[in-house]
Amino acid sequence: MASSTQRQAYSIGSYGVPTTPGVWCLIKMADKPNKPCNRCHKNLTREKYCETCKPIIEAQEQAKAKQYAESRGTTAQRGYDAKWQKVRIQVKANGMWVCQCDRCKELGRVKAVTMSDPVHHIKPVDQYPELRLEPSNLVSMTRRCHEILHGRKNG
Ligand SMILES: [Zn+2]
Ligand SMILES: [Zn+2]
Ligand SMILES: [Zn+2]
Repeated sequence: MASSTQRQAYSIGSYGVPTTPGVWCLIKMADKPNKPCNRCHKNLTREKYCETCKPIIEAQEQAKAKQYAESRGTTAQRGYDAKWQKVRIQVKANGMWVCQCDRCKELGRVKAVTMSDPVHHIKPVDQYPELRLEPSNLVSMTRRCHEILHGRKNG
């Protein structure tokens, strides 16, 4: 009778007060975490990390994976930027380094564009990603003309 109760206590991992010294020993040995955690070196665990450190380690690993993914993204971005810079310069040069927006053309206005001025996509990139680097889809513009075209500023 007594022994079946103890076995039940053992199976659910309970440290209930033992009635027989021998059974207590068995429980202790079976359930005792056997080595210090790899992170805090303090809490005992049967796994690599203790319950406190496990979520921390998991979060760190996730952060590392995210960082890696982002660094790969940055590398791809750099390749894209290099191509984009080339096309931008080409388009600006084709436009004689003056604004080629419809308003300027209409008014016969000559507004110089610089390296930092934008290049407008006639067909938007989100709808025509294949025309992103296509010179015939690009218009060299001053920042202000570009903003006006997109309705970002009045004037
Ligand atoms: Zn730990
Ligand atoms: Zn313009
Ligand atoms: Zn634009």
